[in-house]
Amino acid sequence: MIQKKICILGASGVGKTSLIKQFVEGIFSEKYLTSIGVKIDKKVVQTDKESVQLMIWDIEGIDRYCGFQPKYIRGASAFIIVADCTRSQSLVEGIEIYRMVKEVSDIPAILALNKKDLPTTWHWTESELSDIKHSYSKSFDTSAKTGEGVEEMFSYIANILTE
Ligand code: GDP
Ligand code: MG
Repeated sequence: MIQKKICILGASGVGKTSLIKQFVEGIFSEKYLTSIGVKIDKKVVQTDKESVQLMIWDIEGIDRYCGFQPKYIRGASAFIIVADCTRSQSLVEGIEIYRMVKEVSDIPAILALNKKDLPTTWHWTESELSDIKHSYSKSFDTSAKTGEGVEEMFSYIANILTE
């Protein structure tokens, strides 16, 4: 079976670890567990053509870029930038991390606008968002809490990586 490495990146507290937990284990917790370093979770996804094992790298750091270092991207086939719809600044940080990744690699980028179960309170306008979304292969409205968009997002990634 083919394996594909995916990195999930974004500001602290946007829901990276929660999205993976929802996708891999089907559970959600309100608890905010900060673990510094890298955690790798695996899940097999059935695409139209074949099975692919996704290896999802969850990176947590204490610095501005949440621990992002170019070395984490080595061998990755795609990356997800997660932003939190209740915090405008989280998208600014996501865009910065996006640029850092694109400097070292030209793999596809996916945007997850997370916490969609909560009222969207950030200050981004629809037209600003649509400009930002242009840089990404696709963007998804997600909720790690309800599961909205989560399966769809990872399944989309598995499909583009096996085309
Ligand atoms: P990370 O730092 O990006 O890994 O963020 P976490 O996954 O640890 O989540 C940070 C906090 O946000 C936790 O308290 C989670 O329970 C909460 N959270 C994450 N995703 C969602 C979501 O989609 N909806 C809601 N309501 N809370 C979320
Ligand atoms: Mg985390």
